[in-house]
Amino acid sequence: MNRDASITSLSALASKLTLSEEEKGFDESDGTLLPIKIPSSFFKLINPDDPSDPIRRQVVPTVFEHAESGGETLDPLAEKRHAATARLIHRYPNRAAFLTTDLCFIHCRHCFRRRFTGTFQGPANEEEIEQAARYVEKHPEITELLFTGGDLFTLNDVQLETMIGAFRSRRPDLIIRLCSRAPAARAERITPALIAMLKTFDTAPFFLMTQFNHVRELTKEALRATALFIDNGIPAMNQTVLLKGVNDDADTLKELCNTLLANRIKPYYLFQGDLVSGTAHLRVSIEDGMKLEAELRKRLSGLAMPLYALDLPKGGGKVPLVNSYVEEKKDGALIFRTPYGGHRSYPAD
Ligand code: SF4
Repeated sequence: MNRDASITSLSALASKLTLSEEEKGFDESDGTLLPIKIPSSFFKLINPDDPSDPIRRQVVPTVFEHAESGGETLDPLAEKRHAATARLIHRYPNRAAFLTTDLCFIHCRHCFRRRFTGTFQGPANEEEIEQAARYVEKHPEITELLFTGGDLFTLNDVQLETMIGAFRSRRPDLIIRLCSRAPAARAERITPALIAMLKTFDTAPFFLMTQFNHVRELTKEALRATALFIDNGIPAMNQTVLLKGVNDDADTLKELCNTLLANRIKPYYLFQGDLVSGTAHLRVSIEDGMKLEAELRKRLSGLAMPLYALDLPKGGGKVPLVNSYVEEKKDGALIFRTPYGGHRSYPAD
Protein backbone atom coordinates (compact mmCIF):
# COMPACT_ATOMS: atom_id res chain seq x y z
CA MET A 1 0.00 0.00 0.00
CA ASN A 2 1.51 3.38 -0.90
CA ARG A 3 1.35 6.27 1.56
CA ASP A 4 -1.57 7.93 -0.21
CA ALA A 5 -3.72 4.82 -0.55
CA SER A 6 -7.03 4.77 1.26
CA ILE A 7 -9.36 1.93 2.06
CA THR A 8 -12.64 2.65 0.32
CA SER A 9 -14.70 -0.53 0.44
CA LEU A 10 -15.98 -3.12 2.87
CA SER A 11 -14.20 -5.89 0.96
CA ALA A 12 -10.85 -4.06 1.28
CA LEU A 13 -11.54 -3.63 4.99
CA ALA A 14 -12.47 -7.30 5.37
CA SER A 15 -9.13 -8.30 3.86
CA LYS A 16 -7.33 -6.46 6.65
CA LEU A 17 -9.62 -6.73 9.67
CA THR A 18 -11.87 -9.41 11.06
CA LEU A 19 -15.16 -7.56 10.76
CA SER A 20 -17.89 -7.93 13.36
CA GLU A 21 -21.46 -8.77 12.32
CA GLU A 22 -22.41 -5.09 12.88
CA GLU A 23 -19.59 -3.93 10.62
CA LYS A 24 -20.45 -6.49 7.94
CA GLY A 25 -24.04 -5.25 8.07
CA PHE A 26 -23.17 -1.80 6.69
CA ASP A 27 -24.71 -1.48 3.24
CA GLU A 28 -22.24 0.53 1.19
CA SER A 29 -24.60 0.57 -1.79
CA ASP A 30 -26.89 2.92 0.15
CA GLY A 31 -26.08 6.22 -1.54
CA THR A 32 -27.42 8.28 1.35
CA LEU A 33 -24.60 7.12 3.65
CA LEU A 34 -21.08 8.45 3.86
CA PRO A 35 -18.81 6.18 1.78
CA ILE A 36 -15.90 4.38 3.46
CA LYS A 37 -12.61 6.27 3.32
CA ILE A 38 -9.72 5.43 5.62
CA PRO A 39 -6.25 6.67 4.76
CA SER A 40 -3.55 4.05 5.23
CA SER A 41 -1.71 6.17 7.82
CA PHE A 42 -4.87 6.37 9.94
CA PHE A 43 -5.72 2.71 9.43
CA LYS A 44 -2.31 1.77 10.82
CA LEU A 45 -3.32 3.29 14.15
CA ILE A 46 -6.04 0.65 14.59
CA ASN A 47 -5.27 -2.29 16.86
CA PRO A 48 -6.71 -5.13 14.74
CA ASP A 49 -7.07 -7.35 17.79
CA ASP A 50 -9.40 -4.93 19.56
CA PRO A 51 -12.94 -4.90 18.10
CA SER A 52 -13.70 -1.83 20.24
CA ASP A 53 -10.61 0.08 19.21
CA PRO A 54 -11.27 3.87 19.48
CA ILE A 55 -9.64 4.63 16.13
CA ARG A 56 -11.64 1.86 14.45
CA ARG A 57 -14.93 3.21 15.81
CA GLN A 58 -14.29 6.57 14.14
CA VAL A 59 -13.81 5.20 10.63
CA VAL A 60 -15.23 1.68 10.26
CA PRO A 61 -18.98 1.92 9.58
CA THR A 62 -21.59 -0.34 11.14
CA VAL A 63 -25.17 -1.36 10.51
CA PHE A 64 -26.21 1.18 13.15
CA GLU A 65 -25.72 3.96 10.60
CA HIS A 66 -28.87 2.72 8.84
CA ALA A 67 -31.01 3.53 11.88
CA GLU A 68 -32.39 7.02 12.26
CA SER A 69 -33.35 7.81 15.82
CA GLY A 70 -35.69 10.51 17.08
CA GLY A 71 -34.76 14.05 16.13
CA GLU A 72 -31.96 13.07 13.76
CA THR A 73 -31.71 14.62 10.30
CA LEU A 74 -29.11 14.88 7.57
CA ASP A 75 -28.81 18.62 8.23
CA PRO A 76 -29.00 18.99 12.03
CA LEU A 77 -27.70 22.56 12.08
CA ALA A 78 -30.06 23.75 9.34
CA GLU A 79 -27.13 24.84 7.21
CA LYS A 80 -29.16 24.64 4.01
CA ARG A 81 -31.59 27.21 5.38
CA HIS A 82 -28.69 29.51 6.25
CA ALA A 83 -27.00 29.28 2.86
CA ALA A 84 -26.26 32.84 1.73
CA THR A 85 -24.77 31.62 -1.56
CA ALA A 86 -24.22 28.14 -3.03
CA ARG A 87 -21.16 27.51 -0.82
CA LEU A 88 -21.47 30.07 1.96
CA ILE A 89 -23.33 29.43 5.22
CA HIS A 90 -24.12 32.54 7.25
CA ARG A 91 -25.52 31.35 10.57
CA TYR A 92 -23.95 33.82 13.03
CA PRO A 93 -23.85 37.60 12.52
CA ASN A 94 -20.06 37.89 12.75
CA ARG A 95 -18.84 34.75 11.01
CA ALA A 96 -19.58 32.55 8.04
CA ALA A 97 -18.47 29.16 6.73
CA PHE A 98 -17.24 28.65 3.18
CA LEU A 99 -17.55 25.10 1.86
CA THR A 100 -14.28 24.91 -0.07
CA THR A 101 -14.92 21.33 -1.22
CA ASP A 102 -16.87 18.25 -0.19
CA LEU A 103 -13.78 16.05 -0.43
CA CYS A 104 -11.94 14.79 2.66
CA PHE A 105 -8.87 12.65 3.29
CA ILE A 106 -10.90 10.59 5.73
CA HIS A 107 -14.58 9.87 6.29
CA CYS A 108 -15.47 10.12 9.96
CA ARG A 109 -18.52 8.08 10.88
CA HIS A 110 -19.71 10.90 13.15
CA CYS A 111 -19.49 13.63 10.48
CA PHE A 112 -22.23 16.20 11.06
CA ARG A 113 -22.04 17.49 7.50
CA ARG A 114 -22.68 14.17 5.84
CA ARG A 115 -25.41 15.72 3.66
CA PHE A 116 -22.51 17.34 1.77
CA THR A 117 -19.28 15.52 2.65
CA GLY A 118 -18.10 12.98 0.09
CA THR A 119 -20.88 13.73 -2.39
CA PHE A 120 -18.35 14.13 -5.22
CA GLN A 121 -19.22 17.74 -6.01
CA GLY A 122 -15.59 18.80 -5.83
CA PRO A 123 -14.05 22.18 -5.05
CA ALA A 124 -16.09 25.38 -5.28
CA ASN A 125 -15.93 26.68 -8.85
CA GLU A 126 -14.95 30.18 -9.92
CA GLU A 127 -18.51 31.47 -9.86
CA GLU A 128 -19.22 29.99 -6.43
CA ILE A 129 -16.03 31.53 -5.03
CA GLU A 130 -16.88 34.91 -6.54
CA GLN A 131 -20.47 34.82 -5.22
CA ALA A 132 -19.27 34.04 -1.71
CA ALA A 133 -16.47 36.61 -1.78
CA ARG A 134 -18.84 39.33 -3.03
CA TYR A 135 -21.28 38.47 -0.23
CA VAL A 136 -18.56 38.72 2.42
CA GLU A 137 -17.42 42.03 0.90
CA LYS A 138 -20.94 43.42 1.30
CA HIS A 139 -21.23 42.16 4.88
CA PRO A 140 -18.54 43.87 6.96
CA GLU A 141 -20.14 42.44 10.10
CA ILE A 142 -18.54 39.12 9.08
CA THR A 143 -15.14 39.30 10.74
CA GLU A 144 -14.22 35.62 10.62
CA LEU A 145 -14.53 33.14 7.78
CA LEU A 146 -14.25 29.38 8.25
CA PHE A 147 -12.64 27.60 5.32
CA THR A 148 -14.26 24.24 5.77
CA GLY A 149 -15.94 21.44 3.83
CA GLY A 150 -14.86 18.74 3.34
CA ASP A 151 -11.20 19.45 3.90
CA LEU A 152 -9.67 22.52 2.30
CA PHE A 153 -6.24 20.87 2.12
CA THR A 154 -7.50 18.36 -0.44
CA LEU A 155 -7.13 21.35 -2.78
CA ASN A 156 -3.69 22.03 -4.19
CA ASP A 157 -1.74 25.15 -3.25
CA VAL A 158 -2.71 27.02 -6.42
CA GLN A 159 -6.43 26.35 -5.91
CA LEU A 160 -6.17 27.44 -2.29
CA GLU A 161 -4.26 30.57 -3.15
CA THR A 162 -7.00 31.55 -5.61
CA MET A 163 -9.72 30.98 -3.02
CA ILE A 164 -7.98 32.88 -0.26
CA GLY A 165 -7.08 35.67 -2.67
CA ALA A 166 -10.72 36.10 -3.74
CA PHE A 167 -11.73 36.89 -0.15
CA ARG A 168 -8.64 38.69 1.12
CA SER A 169 -8.41 40.99 -1.93
CA ARG A 170 -11.83 42.33 -0.96
CA ARG A 171 -11.49 41.98 2.79
CA PRO A 172 -7.83 42.20 3.88
CA ASP A 173 -9.03 42.27 7.51
CA LEU A 174 -10.85 38.95 7.33
CA ILE A 175 -9.67 36.38 9.89
CA ILE A 176 -9.67 32.93 8.27
CA ARG A 177 -9.99 29.67 10.15
CA LEU A 178 -8.48 26.70 8.33
CA CYS A 179 -10.64 23.75 9.47
CA SER A 180 -8.86 20.52 8.65
CA ARG A 181 -8.30 16.93 9.66
CA ALA A 182 -5.24 16.76 7.40
CA PRO A 183 -2.73 16.74 10.29
CA ALA A 184 -4.45 13.59 11.60
CA ALA A 185 -5.35 12.03 8.26
CA ARG A 186 -2.78 13.16 5.64
CA ALA A 187 0.08 14.87 7.47
CA GLU A 188 2.37 14.87 4.43
CA ARG A 189 0.01 17.33 2.70
CA ILE A 190 1.26 20.01 5.10
CA THR A 191 4.42 21.23 3.41
CA PRO A 192 6.74 24.23 3.73
CA ALA A 193 5.46 25.37 0.31
CA LEU A 194 1.87 25.43 1.60
CA ILE A 195 2.88 27.44 4.65
CA ALA A 196 4.96 29.83 2.52
CA MET A 197 1.89 30.46 0.33
CA LEU A 198 -0.28 31.16 3.39
CA LYS A 199 2.31 33.57 4.74
CA THR A 200 1.97 35.78 1.67
CA PHE A 201 -1.52 36.66 2.96
CA ASP A 202 -0.25 38.61 5.94
CA THR A 203 -2.93 41.27 6.37
CA ALA A 204 -4.90 39.27 8.95
CA PRO A 205 -4.39 36.11 10.95
CA PHE A 206 -5.13 32.52 10.05
CA PHE A 207 -6.03 29.98 12.71
CA LEU A 208 -5.68 26.24 12.20
CA MET A 209 -8.68 24.33 13.58
CA THR A 210 -7.75 20.68 14.00
CA GLN A 211 -9.86 17.69 14.98
CA PHE A 212 -8.05 15.14 17.12
CA ASN A 213 -10.40 12.86 19.05
CA HIS A 214 -7.94 10.44 20.64
CA VAL A 215 -4.35 10.77 21.78
CA ARG A 216 -3.22 8.00 19.41
CA GLU A 217 -3.98 10.34 16.50
CA LEU A 218 -1.22 12.65 17.74
CA THR A 219 1.50 10.82 15.85
CA LYS A 220 4.96 12.20 15.18
CA GLU A 221 3.82 13.09 11.65
CA ALA A 222 0.64 14.79 12.86
CA LEU A 223 2.59 16.86 15.37
CA ARG A 224 5.19 17.81 12.76
CA ALA A 225 2.41 19.02 10.44
CA THR A 226 0.75 21.05 13.18
CA ALA A 227 4.06 22.49 14.37
CA LEU A 228 4.71 23.80 10.86
CA PHE A 229 1.68 26.08 11.20
CA ILE A 230 2.47 27.13 14.75
CA ASP A 231 6.15 27.83 14.06
CA ASN A 232 5.03 30.14 11.27
CA GLY A 233 2.61 32.19 13.33
CA ILE A 234 -0.61 30.26 12.75
CA PRO A 235 -2.05 29.17 16.11
CA ALA A 236 -3.66 25.73 16.34
CA MET A 237 -6.94 25.09 18.16
CA ASN A 238 -8.43 21.63 18.53
CA GLN A 239 -12.09 20.65 18.33
CA THR A 240 -12.76 17.20 19.76
CA VAL A 241 -16.07 15.44 19.20
CA LEU A 242 -17.26 13.56 22.28
CA LEU A 243 -17.78 10.01 20.99
CA LYS A 244 -19.06 6.91 22.73
CA GLY A 245 -16.39 4.22 22.92
CA VAL A 246 -13.75 6.60 21.57
CA ASN A 247 -13.08 9.25 24.17
CA ASP A 248 -15.99 9.23 26.64
CA ASP A 249 -13.93 8.74 29.75
CA ALA A 250 -11.99 11.25 31.81
CA ASP A 251 -8.62 9.47 31.58
CA THR A 252 -8.71 9.42 27.77
CA LEU A 253 -9.77 13.06 27.48
CA LYS A 254 -7.24 14.17 30.07
CA GLU A 255 -4.41 12.48 28.19
CA LEU A 256 -5.61 13.93 24.88
CA CYS A 257 -5.95 17.49 26.19
CA ASN A 258 -2.64 17.48 28.05
CA THR A 259 -0.79 16.08 25.03
CA LEU A 260 -2.40 18.66 22.75
CA LEU A 261 -1.36 21.46 25.08
CA ALA A 262 2.19 20.11 25.45
CA ASN A 263 2.40 20.40 21.67
CA ARG A 264 1.07 23.99 21.62
CA ILE A 265 -2.39 22.98 20.33
CA LYS A 266 -5.06 24.62 22.45
CA PRO A 267 -7.93 22.26 23.40
CA TYR A 268 -10.73 24.57 22.27
CA TYR A 269 -14.06 22.72 22.09
CA LEU A 270 -15.35 19.36 23.24
CA PHE A 271 -18.46 19.01 21.11
CA GLN A 272 -21.57 17.15 22.09
CA GLY A 273 -22.56 14.98 19.10
CA ASP A 274 -25.00 16.62 16.71
CA LEU A 275 -28.32 14.95 15.90
CA VAL A 276 -27.13 13.76 12.51
CA SER A 277 -28.76 10.72 10.95
CA GLY A 278 -27.29 7.33 11.84
CA THR A 279 -24.97 8.47 14.63
CA ALA A 280 -26.97 7.66 17.80
CA HIS A 281 -24.60 4.78 18.60
CA LEU A 282 -21.70 7.24 18.79
CA ARG A 283 -23.43 9.88 20.90
CA VAL A 284 -22.95 10.31 24.64
CA SER A 285 -25.87 11.59 26.72
CA ILE A 286 -25.57 15.19 27.88
CA GLU A 287 -25.95 13.93 31.45
CA ASP A 288 -22.84 11.76 31.08
CA GLY A 289 -21.07 14.56 29.22
CA MET A 290 -21.69 16.94 32.12
CA LYS A 291 -20.19 14.43 34.55
CA LEU A 292 -17.11 14.25 32.32
CA GLU A 293 -16.95 18.03 32.19
CA ALA A 294 -16.92 18.21 36.01
CA GLU A 295 -14.25 15.54 36.24
CA LEU A 296 -12.07 17.23 33.65
CA ARG A 297 -12.34 20.57 35.45
CA LYS A 298 -10.82 18.88 38.49
CA ARG A 299 -8.00 17.29 36.55
CA LEU A 300 -7.04 19.83 33.86
CA SER A 301 -5.52 23.29 34.01
CA GLY A 302 -7.54 26.16 32.57
CA LEU A 303 -5.31 26.14 29.48
CA ALA A 304 -5.82 22.42 28.89
CA MET A 305 -9.61 22.53 29.51
CA PRO A 306 -11.78 22.58 26.37
CA LEU A 307 -15.24 24.13 26.44
CA TYR A 308 -17.91 21.42 26.36
CA ALA A 309 -20.54 22.76 23.98
CA LEU A 310 -23.63 21.86 22.03
CA ASP A 311 -24.48 23.22 18.61
CA LEU A 312 -28.22 23.51 19.08
CA PRO A 313 -30.48 21.76 16.55
CA LYS A 314 -32.08 23.73 13.71
CA GLY A 315 -29.31 26.32 13.69
CA GLY A 316 -29.94 27.59 17.21
CA GLY A 317 -26.23 28.30 17.70
CA LYS A 318 -23.61 27.00 20.13
CA VAL A 319 -24.25 26.93 23.85
CA PRO A 320 -21.74 26.03 26.55
CA LEU A 321 -22.50 22.98 28.66
CA VAL A 322 -20.86 23.97 31.90
CA ASN A 323 -21.65 22.76 35.41
CA SER A 324 -22.68 25.46 37.86
CA TYR A 325 -20.84 25.64 41.16
CA VAL A 326 -23.34 27.96 42.87
CA GLU A 327 -25.49 25.92 45.25
CA GLU A 328 -27.55 28.60 46.96
CA LYS A 329 -27.81 32.18 48.14
CA LYS A 330 -27.87 32.46 51.90
CA ASP A 331 -27.53 35.40 54.32
CA GLY A 332 -26.33 37.72 51.57
CA ALA A 333 -23.74 35.26 50.28
CA LEU A 334 -23.50 32.85 47.40
CA ILE A 335 -22.56 29.36 48.52
CA PHE A 336 -20.25 27.59 46.08
CA ARG A 337 -19.39 23.93 45.84
CA THR A 338 -15.69 23.58 45.04
CA PRO A 339 -14.68 21.21 42.22
CA TYR A 340 -13.18 18.97 44.91
CA GLY A 341 -16.29 18.69 47.06
CA GLY A 342 -15.88 21.44 49.68
CA HIS A 343 -17.88 24.64 50.10
CA ARG A 344 -16.97 28.35 50.09
CA SER A 345 -19.05 31.50 50.31
CA TYR A 346 -18.68 34.82 48.53
CA PRO A 347 -20.69 38.04 49.09
CA ALA A 348 -23.71 38.08 46.76
CA ASP A 349 -23.70 41.87 46.26
S1 SF4 B 1 -12.84 15.29 7.98
FE1 SF4 B 1 -14.47 16.62 8.76
S2 SF4 B 1 -15.85 16.97 7.03
FE2 SF4 B 1 -14.57 15.18 6.53
S3 SF4 B 1 -15.76 13.43 7.20
FE3 SF4 B 1 -14.39 13.97 8.91
S4 SF4 B 1 -15.65 15.33 10.18
FE4 SF4 B 1 -16.65 15.22 8.16
